[in-house]
Amino acid sequence: MTQKIEVILDSKQCQGYGMCLMSEDIFEIPQGSQVAQLKLHMVDLDREDEIKELASACPAQAISFRILETA
Ligand code: SF4
Repeated sequence: MTQKIEVILDSKQCQGYGMCLMSEDIFEIPQGSQVAQLKLHMVDLDREDEIKELASACPAQAISFRILETA
C-alpha cells in the first residue's frame, strides 16, 4: 500500500494569481487563460510540505489536497 497526495484545484475559486506556478510540474496557466490547471493530479507523499505550502499560499483558497491509499 502506498500513499499519494491528490491535489485538488477548484477552478471556480481560482483568480489566476499564479502563486501555485512555483510548482510548475503540478500547475500551469495556459496561454490566454486566467485560471490555473492541474498538470499533475497525484504526487508523492514526500511532497506533502510543498503541497501544504501551495494550499496556504493560494490567495483564493482554490487549492486543497487529500492523502489517498493506492494499491
Ligand atoms: S495560486 Fe490559487 S488563485 Fe492563483 S493561479 Fe494558483 S490556484 Fe489560482
